[in-house]
Amino acid sequence: MADIDSVLNKLLDEARSADEPAAVLKSPELKALYKQIGSIDPTERADYGRRLNDAKTELERVVAERLAEMTDESVATIDITAPFDKNSGRPDLLPTDQGSIHPLMQEVEKVSDIFGRMGFQIEQSRELDDQFHMFESLNFPKDHPARDDYDTFMTKEADANGEALIAPAHTSTMQYRTLKKYKHKLENGEPIAAIVPDRVFRNEDVDARHEHTFYQVEGIYVSRGVNAGMLIATLQKFLEEYYGKKLEVRVNPFYFPFTEPSFEFALSCPFCGGQNTDCKVCSGEGWIELLGCGMIHPNVLKHADIDPNEYTGFAFGCGIDRLVMMKYGIEDVRHFHSGKLDFLKQF
Ligand SMILES: [Zn+2]
Repeated sequence: MADIDSVLNKLLDEARSADEPAAVLKSPELKALYKQIGSIDPTERADYGRRLNDAKTELERVVAERLAEMTDESVATIDITAPFDKNSGRPDLLPTDQGSIHPLMQEVEKVSDIFGRMGFQIEQSRELDDQFHMFESLNFPKDHPARDDYDTFMTKEADANGEALIAPAHTSTMQYRTLKKYKHKLENGEPIAAIVPDRVFRNEDVDARHEHTFYQVEGIYVSRGVNAGMLIATLQKFLEEYYGKKLEVRVNPFYFPFTEPSFEFALSCPFCGGQNTDCKVCSGEGWIELLGCGMIHPNVLKHADIDPNEYTGFAFGCGIDRLVMMKYGIEDVRHFHSGKLDFLKQF
């Protein structure tokens, strides 16, 4: 594991003599220091993040000095209305507006990459959908009480069926479309394998663990002879790849209208493995209830004109914010949408 001080000293030396000093701010060594945040012991992570940010500030200061030194003669002709760099007092010559990819989007890419390597296609959801895709196609008949479990946002305007439109409360709204879209594969003897990583919306009371807008990844797999063991193995493999370690998994029976049987899926705590009674991530229980999943209900397959006597499949829906929070020891889901640079710069 790379050490902050030795990397910093090397990059400072480079910056002081480089013709393009700002390049050190994009160096792989610096990126590697940020990347290893995930593997730092959670109790030391905040301290590590602080030291890393201090090192980066120091590096930026030296880069600014070097740039100022190099452009000394031309400074007199520089645009005096340009913003000033707070460290050097010189016009801001650093590419400070370069920005970075939001931590959630970085993780969505990682999740998509893992499933992509497992042979899953990536599909997009939408931000407004109809009641057929949100409910009927997923085996929630009209007036089904489970419809009330989703605190959905609805439009005042009605669609052609006279029903309000819904901001999707889960990515399962894409199951019907995905099954329809790839149905031809089954006829060619190939499986339907797709994930939908996208935003969902619920009328939640916002607190440290609940947001009205968050990310989910839906998974759908249909073929001949698919069984619950394949579902569990797929999720276990994905989670082990994502957290970079061996994990135990556990399933408990649950209820969803669109899967039968349905399960609540738990994994052994990636931080303490059940060894720490004070663990903040699992509250000392050693297990984390992570997601809902199950075998796709025959009615859902029938809706999409797939014969449930010939084909079976599994589906799962997993909150991405939650995965990321556990990976980096983030204690409050509201940080993601807060726009706080102190938080965002750690990724
Ligand atoms: Zn734990």
